[in-house]
Amino acid sequence: MGERRRIVWIMLVHQVEKRNIVLLLCLVALLCLCAACTLQDAQTDRPGDAVVSDPPPVVSIVIHTEPTDLPPAQPLPTPTETPAPSPTPGFLPAFSAADYPLNGKYIALTFDDGPHDKYTRAILEILAENNVVATFFVSGRRAEQWPEILKEMVAAGHEIGNHTYSHKGLAKISTAQAREQLERTNAIILAACGVEAKLVRPPYGQMKKSIPETFPEYTFVLWTIDPRDWETKDTKGTIHHVLKKAKDGGIILLHDIKKATVGTVDPIVKGLLAEGYTFVTVSTLLAIQELREA
Ligand SMILES: [Zn+2]
Repeated sequence: MGERRRIVWIMLVHQVEKRNIVLLLCLVALLCLCAACTLQDAQTDRPGDAVVSDPPPVVSIVIHTEPTDLPPAQPLPTPTETPAPSPTPGFLPAFSAADYPLNGKYIALTFDDGPHDKYTRAILEILAENNVVATFFVSGRRAEQWPEILKEMVAAGHEIGNHTYSHKGLAKISTAQAREQLERTNAIILAACGVEAKLVRPPYGQMKKSIPETFPEYTFVLWTIDPRDWETKDTKGTIHHVLKKAKDGGIILLHDIKKATVGTVDPIVKGLLAEGYTFVTVSTLLAIQELREA
């Protein structure tokens, strides 16, 4: 009887141990799954990640994923002894309030992600034909490839802004990395055309709340009209969206690395000119808004 009880006891202990091992394995599997989910969540774009500063008030927070067909990032160039050219102050026509009656209708056309050797050049021709100016937020690594296009932009009176070196969402990287992205791009712009860019358009509209305070030397600019041309590649739809949403003080977002976007520029410009709009650079638009608020 005692022997049977001992055997039953051993069997019970064995069962319990087996169950414990199974439970332990389940727990480990569950923990691994949770860890994987957390990691995946952290790598996914979430609107909550995007916090933008108060100024400028006209801009809206719009999160989108943009084209990723850019060439891979190159390693940082070795510093050379050659001094960088000095910035050219007043590269834009000097702003004179008298030239911009405050009761006028003003709008800024902006292009992100370029320059593109074919599409940006085509857009520059269209802008010249219509005698209007725009603002180009250039990618550092593309500007590095086609510095001569930046020269053409400046010669035509367009404004150049910084769109980071390798299209990094500023909410996803450290302050040191953000500084490297911005400063490296500004050095490329300066070397290409002698302009010290003051405006930054953060890729995806993303940045940490602290970024404008950390980089007071830059003005961070988003947009108010986003036809998502990069995504839809729908020329007619983009034109319709922009003409419908346009209003005084608006900032239009387009992408000069998309073929379909090239065909939208002339109808948009002509349509808005016909409605009495004056095209201005983003800096001029911000200056007009400041005067209006004064
Ligand atoms: Zn972009």
